Amino acid sequence: MSDMIPRNSLLGQQSWQKELADVITDPVELLKMLAINPEDYFDDIKARQLFPVRVPRPFADRIEKGNPRDPLLLQVMPKAQEFLKSPGYVTDPLQEQQTVAPGMLHKYESRVLFILKGGCAVNCRYCFRRHFPYAETKINKRDIQVSLEYLEQHPEINEVILSGGDPLMANDDFLQWMLEKLEAIPHLTRIRIHTRLPVVIPARITQKLLTVLSSSRLQALIVLHINHANEIDGALKQACKDIREAGIHLLNQSVLLKDVNDKQEALINLSEALFEAGVMPYYLHLLDKVEGAEHFDISEREAVELVQSITKKLPGFLVPRLAREEPGKPSKTLININ
Ligand SMILES: *Cc1c(COP(=O)(O)O)cnc(C)c1O
Ligand code: SF4
Repeated sequence: MSDMIPRNSLLGQQSWQKELADVITDPVELLKMLAINPEDYFDDIKARQLFPVRVPRPFADRIEKGNPRDPLLLQVMPKAQEFLKSPGYVTDPLQEQQTVAPGMLHKYESRVLFILKGGCAVNCRYCFRRHFPYAETKINKRDIQVSLEYLEQHPEINEVILSGGDPLMANDDFLQWMLEKLEAIPHLTRIRIHTRLPVVIPARITQKLLTVLSSSRLQALIVLHINHANEIDGALKQACKDIREAGIHLLNQSVLLKDVNDKQEALINLSEALFEAGVMPYYLHLLDKVEGAEHFDISEREAVELVQSITKKLPGFLVPRLAREEPGKPSKTLININ
């Protein structure tokens, strides 16, 4: 299967940008394509007004036909429960982020999180971004210059983490420019990219991107966001292989989601499938308590029990670390599972 996928370099153009322009935004089209009768889901479809539907076709192709409970479909399909308002579920769960420079969070001594605003290829219904899609906010080179100055003045920082939105929404030329700027800062040793884009559009892993990252003085890591083993198809496996062959480390973070991956078997299958694709599990996040996503939430106690149960069945290196974002704190808190 993966052998039949044309390489971007051979197409001579950015096929991922075409996929991006061709995302499914109409839930009726999505359901019809999946042989599910849209008339049975009109109440759910209304929730598209709360957060637009965005599903890249290469991702939609991995959804099982005729199965309204498919774990991939549940991540992207609007639901009537999104209209629910409950105490504790807010529009800005991570509000009090203290930036030290435009888009830059510096919580840990050695690393900064650098939020490049550029939207996402997919709209995940559980995401805190649902209330601030900041879709087309242009990445502003002047703001970045200010952030670069901050980095220059802080020799304790050795790693820059590009996050978003999705930092790979930026094109390869921009990323090359960015990387050259970072390389010029002598105390930096690593560049990390947090992205879901290659998962939903594997063609995003272009030859140029791999060349830019692998020829850099900075060691590159990519942290993917995959929640279910079914998200890993032939094209994504090939992309992961290309990434690793370029000498780039690959990790994964997931969000623990009710009815998507909140079963022992789903989490074990995910870890095994990740490893098979050359990706190491890193974090398993508890849901951010965002309004409209309560139906995805599971309690911390259940989460701990789940991770305890997979710990008995998996080698330690395939057990992700359970973590949660604390309101008012701009970083993760690890949850002790012992
Ligand atoms: C998650 C996060 C990081 C990265 O933390 P790691 O444990 O190194 O993955 C860095 N800065 C902030 C503000 C974060 O939220
Ligand atoms: S930030 Fe991540 S989780 Fe949120 S919509 Fe974008 S890809 Fe999905």
